[in-house]
Amino acid sequence: MNPTLPTAADAVAVPDELIAVIRRHWGFDTLRPLQAAAMRTVLDGRDSLLVLPTGGGKSLCYQAPALVRGDTTVVVSPLIALMKDQVDGLRACGVPAIQLNSSLSTEEVRAGERAVIDGSIRLLFASPERLATGAFRSLLKQVGVRRFAIDEAHCISHWGHDFRPEYRQLGELKKLFPQASVHGFTATATTQVRADIAAQLGLHEPEIMVGNFDRPNLMYSVIPRYDVYDQAFEVLRRHPGEAGIIYCMRRRDVDEMSQWLKGKGINAVPYHAGMEAAERKRVHDLFSEEQCDVVVATIAFGMGIDRSNIRYVLHTGMPKSIEHYQQETGRAGRDGLEAECVLLYSAGDSVLWKKIVQKSVAESGNPVDNDYLDNVFRHLADMENYCRPVTCRHRSLVEYFGQEFAGENCGACDLCTGESEALPDADTIAKKILSCVYRVNESFGIAHVASILRGANTAPIRERGHDKLTTYGLLKEHSQRELADWIGQLVGLGLVDQVGNEYPILKLNAASWEVMKDLRTARLRYIPAARAAGAADGAGKSSRASRAEAVSWEGVDRDLFERLRKLRHEQAAARGVPPYLIFGDATLRELARVRPAALEGLSKIYGIGEAKFRDFGQMFFEALDAECQARELSRNEAPVAKPQATGSASARSGSTTQAGTDLFRRGATIEEVMQATGRARSTVSQYLADFLKAEPQTSVDAWVPREIYQRVADAARDVGIEKMKPIYEALDGTVSYDDIRVVVAHLAASGG
Ligand code: ADP
Ligand code: ZN
Repeated sequence: MNPTLPTAADAVAVPDELIAVIRRHWGFDTLRPLQAAAMRTVLDGRDSLLVLPTGGGKSLCYQAPALVRGDTTVVVSPLIALMKDQVDGLRACGVPAIQLNSSLSTEEVRAGERAVIDGSIRLLFASPERLATGAFRSLLKQVGVRRFAIDEAHCISHWGHDFRPEYRQLGELKKLFPQASVHGFTATATTQVRADIAAQLGLHEPEIMVGNFDRPNLMYSVIPRYDVYDQAFEVLRRHPGEAGIIYCMRRRDVDEMSQWLKGKGINAVPYHAGMEAAERKRVHDLFSEEQCDVVVATIAFGMGIDRSNIRYVLHTGMPKSIEHYQQETGRAGRDGLEAECVLLYSAGDSVLWKKIVQKSVAESGNPVDNDYLDNVFRHLADMENYCRPVTCRHRSLVEYFGQEFAGENCGACDLCTGESEALPDADTIAKKILSCVYRVNESFGIAHVASILRGANTAPIRERGHDKLTTYGLLKEHSQRELADWIGQLVGLGLVDQVGNEYPILKLNAASWEVMKDLRTARLRYIPAARAAGAADGAGKSSRASRAEAVSWEGVDRDLFERLRKLRHEQAAARGVPPYLIFGDATLRELARVRPAALEGLSKIYGIGEAKFRDFGQMFFEALDAECQARELSRNEAPVAKPQATGSASARSGSTTQAGTDLFRRGATIEEVMQATGRARSTVSQYLADFLKAEPQTSVDAWVPREIYQRVADAARDVGIEKMKPIYEALDGTVSYDDIRVVVAHLAASGG
């Protein structure tokens, strides 16, 4: 057994005991970036603040050390729903955890308190309100609590976007419990919010750890909005039977969208703050328990949604800040598998937000706080900037949070994947469209204008004499679909208005005239023909399946996956817990890919620790076994190595080695495989070496420059290829081990 869990970003050593605990209870074999460092501060009792994006694995950082320390760690969490899920999840992993909050009866609270006093509880979850009560504080004093974990710590800062006054009282913890260390955890924090959290909590020389904000498994795209229903439907069609959230700006939009989707046969459930609390809770539970897959909601929905297999988040309007966007899209793909985030954007969104904010300020009766308004407007401007088709989406997000983005092409956004490309003669096309709008007296909608430009020979056109217009057939080399799309983009960009609800018609505005007079440029995007063809063949996900997705389904038997999913669903329903608490999708995919031949093989699968193995191993094995036998699927006899988890889509799902091999076979570069698998260069170069040995190639020019190849080959002639170090030394360390590894593999395979 490996004594230290390898970590991607930090070389902090953690005790063997901790590693054993993580393996036993969670079934994880590797730590995610910063987890080791964060756990170290908790074990050492040093105040800390850990900033990791949603899904980054913050909870483990206070949960695992709590087991090692053997006393009680208090976890402060803002929502009861959030606590309940965490407690259920911990119990499923065999960890003694309870919550004390207003959802419990007096009896239950008493029993809980007794268990805390007995010392049998490792993790005690409580709300900030409860922590403020004298009774609770004396209970904690009595047992001598030494550690507090503050979840969603940004709620303490009014600079953040989720300020909660009750969090302010947490500032007293350091004074009331001077022996205890306090550890904050959050997913959203700009430098300002970060400093504010540390100050408000009164942290003593805190260790502030900020993780990588990039979420490589999320595929981002921003599309100008012109027909919100059709566009939403298109996204949903790509995800049949999968979980998703559709965010709308207003309650009214939520109701209309969910109605419309119902009419289309989709069981979409609405959620907004105007609904009764009981109804909201019901929706929350339905979604968590996987009884429903599509929720249409305002931003009121989300906190406390721990469902890990959300495969898409669709925004039908622009969020009011990048923080919001990061948080809302962050709910997608928490299991590390691929997920897509689509934002339908219109230039009017920002105006609408401004109106909403100004109205609420006016209604509050308070004097206008200009600082506050400036803050709001700045956030809106940043968000609008993000929406423009200029910079890679992953890059813009990461840079917004003050980090650098390594690499040129993220491989997972609309701009980098060439999903859409800048339309070369956009200005000319825009002018032709706008002048056609003018010619028809600003009295027709998108479809009709597109038909005229295409030169369609239809009754409505002939009847109105529109075939006599100078703009008739002016863009006949383009399809109706393309033209409608571009007109829609112009609407989205605010370069032409669309007015009226039932039969929206196009109207020119000031910006339209600026475009026509060459005072303003119009940036349009188009979907290259090859992709458009792929999308049109009706194959659901065809055009969008990101590279991460192809990799993460690699070798997975989909029918077996569905069978296991069904079993998970039944078990969850029987126990009244959300399905993901039993196994995450990543675990099911892994099972459906590896297909262990014996029960013991299950304990080697990602996400199956001792408790889960004991409770669910036999039954999942039986289901798998039956399905495999019935369909004569091949099985894995040998004990399999667990893939390392790094938080990237591909990494935790199936054999990344296999994925790497396939990509290399198709001619991918080392960088591309690093992107797709989320692995470090050293690991990827090892994959390449393995591939070269298994499938000798005539040349490795694609991966190592000729000149370097030659130098390594020369050195190898002198010192041999058994070991890499002598070669490295012979070259005075001027060539990296990664390059040497590849060349040596090639030499070995070609008999040299
Ligand atoms: P956060 O609180 O940062 O949003 P979570 O703590 O909910 O993230 O973790 C997200 C997911 O990642 C969970 O399903 C969790 O079990 C899993 N996870 C956490 N740490 C690891 C790890 N070291 N290896 C594999 N999976 C992990
Ligand atoms: Zn990109």
